[in-house]
Amino acid sequence: MGFNTGLLHGKSISRYPGREILPPISQVSAFRYESMEELEKVFNHKSMGYAYSRIGNPTITAFEQRINELEGGIGAICCSSGMSAITSALLAVCESGDEIIAGTGLYGGTIDLLRDLEKLKIHTVFVNELTAESIRKNASDKTRVVFGELISNPSLTVLDIPEASKAAHEAGIPLFVDSTTATPYIAKPVSLGADVVIHSTSKYLNGGGNSIGGVVVDGGRFSWDFEKHTALSGFSKYGKMALSVRLRTDIWENIGGCMAPANAFLNYIGLDTLGIRMERICDNADRLAHALNELPEIEVNYLTLDSHPYHGFVESELGGRGGGILNFRAGSKTRAFNIINSLKYAMIASNIGDLRTLVIHPASTLYIHSGREEMEAAGVYEDTVRVSVGIEDAEDLIRDFTEAVEGSVNA
Ligand SMILES: *Cc1c(COP(=O)(O)O)cnc(C)c1O
Repeated sequence: MGFNTGLLHGKSISRYPGREILPPISQVSAFRYESMEELEKVFNHKSMGYAYSRIGNPTITAFEQRINELEGGIGAICCSSGMSAITSALLAVCESGDEIIAGTGLYGGTIDLLRDLEKLKIHTVFVNELTAESIRKNASDKTRVVFGELISNPSLTVLDIPEASKAAHEAGIPLFVDSTTATPYIAKPVSLGADVVIHSTSKYLNGGGNSIGGVVVDGGRFSWDFEKHTALSGFSKYGKMALSVRLRTDIWENIGGCMAPANAFLNYIGLDTLGIRMERICDNADRLAHALNELPEIEVNYLTLDSHPYHGFVESELGGRGGGILNFRAGSKTRAFNIINSLKYAMIASNIGDLRTLVIHPASTLYIHSGREEMEAAGVYEDTVRVSVGIEDAEDLIRDFTEAVEGSVNA
C-alpha cells in the first residue's frame, strides 16, 4: 500500500459499532456498566473497556491507533496539546537529579518548558547542534533522554536520527524526537532509530487549523535499564513497554492532559488528507522558495535550495521533501513588517501547518522571551520572516510574495 492508500485502508481503520465510516464522536465524560463487577474489571485492567474520558475514550482511541500505525509504534497517547505531550513524555522518564540533552534550536515553548523543569531539579544540557558528537561529549551518568526536533522550526536544521540515535543508544539513553514539522509523510523517526516520536497535532496532522492537540508515540524498541531509568522502576515487568504503561496508567493519566473527543474526531478527519496536503504544501514551499531566492536583497532559508547547509538530508532522510516552513531575511525589521503587511493571501498568524499560508515576524512575537543569542541559535534574526506555506495555487503565492517584496523599501 502506498502512503495515501495506507491512510484510508490501514489496519488501524476499525469497524465502528453502528457501521459508521468514521468513528462517532463519543462526547461523554463517563461510560455506564450493567454491574459493579464489570466496572471493577475495567478499573483493574482485567477487561477492555472505557470508564472515564480522561483515561480513555473510543474516539480518541481511533485517532491514537492511526497515528501509531503511521509512525510504526507500539502505542500512542493523545494529549491536550503538543506541549502537554512533551511534558508527559519527559516526566515519564526524568526525576529530580536527572539530565536531558537538547539542541538550542528547539521550539520556543519547549525551551521554556525545559527551563521550568530546572525548578524540579531536572537539568537540561543545551548543545548548539544536536549531533552524535555533541551527544557523546555531553552524555553523563545522569542523562536520561536526548531530545531533538527532526526539522527544527524555524531554523530548519535537520537531526541526523540514525547517527544521533546510535550515539545515544551507546550511552544507554533513548532519543525522543519532536517530528511536528516533518510529519510521517516526510519521515518516520522510529524506523530511522528514534525511540519516541512526539507531535503537536495542532499543526500538520490536524491540518485545518481547528484544534490544539498532541501525541506521544512509543517506538517500543528501547531496552530500559531500570537501575538507571529509576523513573520507570515499578514498571520493569513491562520491559520495552514500560514507558507506554507508565504514561498510560500513571503520568499522563494523573497530569490529566487528555485530548477532547471532538478534537480527536477533527484530527481523525484531518489525517485522511495528510498525504495530499503535504505533497501540495511541500511543492508550493519548494516553488515559492526558489522564486523568492531570485529576488534581490532577500536571503531565503529552505531545505531544498542547493545552498542550504542541510540540503543533503533532503534525499537521505526526508524523502526528497523540504516541508512546509520557509523563512527569509528581509534586511531590516521595517522591511520585514512592510512585506508582511502588504501580503494579500498570507494571513498574519502565530501557527504553522494550516491549509492557508500563514506568516509571522518571529523576533517580535514567538521569541520575545529570548535574548538575542538564544534567538539567533534558533535561526531567528530581527529581519526574519517565517512562512508556513499552505495549499493555495503556487502561482498566486509567488505573485503575492514577489509583489510584496518588490514593493517594499529596505529602511
Ligand atoms: C507548536 C509546536 C509545539 C507545541 O505544540 P502545541 O500544540 O502548540 O502545544 C511543539 N513542538 C513544535 C515543533 C511545534 O511546532
